[in-house]
Amino acid sequence: MSRLSLSLAVGLVVAGHATARAEESVPRLYAGRPLNVLLVTGGCCHNYPFQSGQLTNWAAKRANVRFTVVHEGGQGTRGQIPLYDNPGWSKPYDVVVHNECFADTDDPSYIRRVVAGHRAGTPAVVVHCAMHTYRAATIDDWREFLGVTSRRHDHQSRYPVSIVAPTHPAMQGFQAPWTTQMDELYIVEKLWPKAVALATARSERDGSVHPVAWAHDFHGARVFGTTFGHSDATFADPAFLEMVTRGMLWASGKNDGAPASGKGAPRQPLAK
Ligand SMILES: [Zn+2]
Repeated sequence: MSRLSLSLAVGLVVAGHATARAEESVPRLYAGRPLNVLLVTGGCCHNYPFQSGQLTNWAAKRANVRFTVVHEGGQGTRGQIPLYDNPGWSKPYDVVVHNECFADTDDPSYIRRVVAGHRAGTPAVVVHCAMHTYRAATIDDWREFLGVTSRRHDHQSRYPVSIVAPTHPAMQGFQAPWTTQMDELYIVEKLWPKAVALATARSERDGSVHPVAWAHDFHGARVFGTTFGHSDATFADPAFLEMVTRGMLWASGKNDGAPASGKGAPRQPLAK
């Protein structure tokens, strides 16, 4: 894993209604009251300021969302962030996107405080290194919440993806077969019983097939997950950003069926 230069950006708020007029012709996936989204990011190995900007901008074009971005915990693999000190940390939000990377954090009481926010019902989206966060922990609480257990990954490559649930609301944006940008294939040891694979990819090393996107039911809270999301190129890939945005809307109960317009997502990337 490469370490990229990170800067700290705590508490950035991006308002979803700041949509460019040039894109008004593109049907939005959700136009109801603003969806309050908490994006938690930070830790090792990835360009989180770039990733956060890409995801919040894309989602704001596609839906009426209001992001709060909490980027804390430094750039190492072991961090505990103040956000989770409050037992009610998740309550103000309709959905929480976890894109943090703290593999060596292993304090059970801390991890259970994080998970409790979702056990109480707050939906989630989990991206890439969230799956290796708390990897050192002996308790399984976080992994049960994620819906997958993964502890390692294959090399970076461009992975062809099989969409195995094309009618799932999170996956309806794909207009053509998807091959990722340069990214890591996470080796998934276990798909938890209430998780369903939505897309898979094959290891170039041993041919094993792994979920790369899934839908999960964590005690009634919806969780959408993807193990992709390592590189800047992935976060510049409209297919990836659209999938995560749709997954976020599905998790929060705002996109349960066909696209509102009936036309699906744009074939071309939205203007920057
Ligand atoms: Zn990575």
